[in-house]
Amino acid sequence: MAITFNKPKKLFLLDQDGTLYKGKHLFPYTKDFLKSIRDSGANYLFITNNSSRSTKDYVEKMAKFGIKAKEEDFYTSSHATMDYIKHYHPDLPVYLVGTMALSREFLENGIKLTDKVSEAKVAVLSYDTELNYTKLTALCDILANKDAIYLATNPDLDCPSEDGYLPDCGSFAMMIYNATGRNPLFLGKPRKLFVDSILEHYNLKPEDLVIVGDRLYTDIAMGTNSAVDTILVLSGEATLKDVETSPYKPTYIANSVFDIFN
Ligand SMILES: [Mg+2]
Repeated sequence: MAITFNKPKKLFLLDQDGTLYKGKHLFPYTKDFLKSIRDSGANYLFITNNSSRSTKDYVEKMAKFGIKAKEEDFYTSSHATMDYIKHYHPDLPVYLVGTMALSREFLENGIKLTDKVSEAKVAVLSYDTELNYTKLTALCDILANKDAIYLATNPDLDCPSEDGYLPDCGSFAMMIYNATGRNPLFLGKPRKLFVDSILEHYNLKPEDLVIVGDRLYTDIAMGTNSAVDTILVLSGEATLKDVETSPYKPTYIANSVFDIFN
């Protein structure tokens, strides 16, 4: 049954994996769902914590699904991290543990990257699918300096895939914690900061937004943290049983995004 909001929503924040598609497979109702949002007079923004790809990669991924999207249609944990650095540490050299695609995006956005451990004042950990031991030891070396600022793009422990569990940034952070005793400031979902940047960018209020996602401890938690309505879809990770035991309760629950307008 379609969801009726107390007040019409202006912007839908859409998680991607588990919500609009699973891995390489677009859900059959996703295109109609996106059209329904626009038909309702609202807009949407694709949000993701996956920092292994650049925004350009995401635009291409959507194009492969037959969905026309522009770079402005995305806000990712990488954007949140870059915005945070630009706001709080604009002049400090940054050591990034990230993919080539992410490094390019950081540079294009004016972040000062360095490869030199001795120069780095900020260390950023991300979902680096090109991770190697050299990067791990460099990060640990930087973190040995207690004044070094330590950020991470996203707290996800694993990334959903057809092949099973892929270790994500949150798992890397646990490994680094075991080695150094330091925990990063995570900047992607579920931080309120992620929503605040979007509200400021689009000049909207929390009640204008709704977050749609499949994961309780990121998508739904972000709604709880930022007083934004949420819709949990059961097409990905979380089950109804998980909802019972989770501290994060969605405002609405739908089997999939199909049920939001139908
Ligand atoms: Mg998801």
